[in-house]
Amino acid sequence: PAPLLDVRDLRVTFDTPHGLVRAVGGVSWTLSPGETLGIIGESGSGKSVGLEAIMGLIKTPPGHVSGQVMFDRRDVLTMPERDRRQLRGEKIAMIFQDAMSALNPSLTVGTQIAEVYRLRRKCSHADAERKAIELMDRVKIPSAKTRIGNYPHEFSGGMCQRVMIATALALNPQILIADEPTTALDVTVQRQIMTLLAELQREDGMALVLITHDLGLVAETVDRAMVMYAGRLVESAPVSALFEVPSHPYTRGLIRSMPRIDGASGKLHAIGGTPPAAGRMPKGCAFHPRCEMRVERCGIERPNLRPVGKNRAAACHLAEEIPHV
Ligand code: SF4
Ligand code: MG
Repeated sequence: PAPLLDVRDLRVTFDTPHGLVRAVGGVSWTLSPGETLGIIGESGSGKSVGLEAIMGLIKTPPGHVSGQVMFDRRDVLTMPERDRRQLRGEKIAMIFQDAMSALNPSLTVGTQIAEVYRLRRKCSHADAERKAIELMDRVKIPSAKTRIGNYPHEFSGGMCQRVMIATALALNPQILIADEPTTALDVTVQRQIMTLLAELQREDGMALVLITHDLGLVAETVDRAMVMYAGRLVESAPVSALFEVPSHPYTRGLIRSMPRIDGASGKLHAIGGTPPAAGRMPKGCAFHPRCEMRVERCGIERPNLRPVGKNRAAACHLAEEIPHV
C-alpha cells in the first residue's frame, strides 16, 4: 500500500550566534496507514525537531526546513499555512511530554476538549460537550460527566495526559504523534498511558509515531523502530529484529545499556562518551569517537543508510559484521 506519510530528505538547520547549526541532516522514512513506529534517540538527536518540522511548529527563521513531506499526495512543507493548520489536529495530531503546561490553566478540561471539536465541526455547545464526555470516557477518565467541569490543576499528571489524548483524538486523526508522552510520569502511570495509547491505536486504526529515549517503551508498543543519532537515521528495523540483532553499534550500545527486567545482570553497559554538540559534528561517521568497533575509514567517510537485510537499513560501514548482543 502507498505510504500515508512519505518523508524525503528532511533537513532542519538553525541560525545561531555561532553560525548555522544542523539539527536534522537529511532523513527519509515512510509511515504506512495504521502502522506503529518508534523513533529512538537521546536528547539532541533530532527526533523531536524532525517531527516538529513536519507539523510546521518550527519558527522560520531562525529555523530552516527543507525536503519533502508527502501526505495525501501533497507536500506538507510547501502548502499554505491555512491548509497546514487544518491538517494539523484534523489529520495529524500531536501530544507532548508536559501535558499539564500544554493545557490552559484557566479553562475547564471539558471546555478545552469541547472547543477543539466545536470550532472544527461547527456544532452546538451542547453537542460539543456531549462529545467531550464521550472522549473523556474513551481515555478512561473516571466520572467524566462530573470531571468535565474541573480545571487542569485539579488533575494529576497522568489525568492531564489523558485530557491531551482526548483533545488529540477529537477529530479522528490518521496519525498521532506522541513525543515522550510518559516521560514526566511515574512508572505505573507511564504503563497505563502506553496501554491506553496502544488500545486507542488498535480501535481507531490510526498510525502512531512514538518519539522516545526509552527503548523499553518502544519494545512493548511499536512494530518498527528507527534510531537517530546526531540528526541522522542510523538504523531502521522491525522491533523484534532490532532487539534480536541490532545492525548498528549505537543501537547495540543502547540495548546493552537497558536495565534488564529479569534483573539477571545488575550492571549497565552505558555507551562511553557523549553525543556531539550540534555545531561540532565529527568527520566521517558521527558516532566514531564513541564506537568500539571503529576502523580507520570511519573517521573519514560518512556511512550512508543502506539496506542490510529484509525490511531493515543501517548507516554503518561494518553493519554486516556487528556481533549479536
Ligand atoms: Fe562505528 Fe564505523 Fe559503524 Fe560508525 S561506521 S558505527 S564508527 S563501525
Ligand atoms: Mg524532545
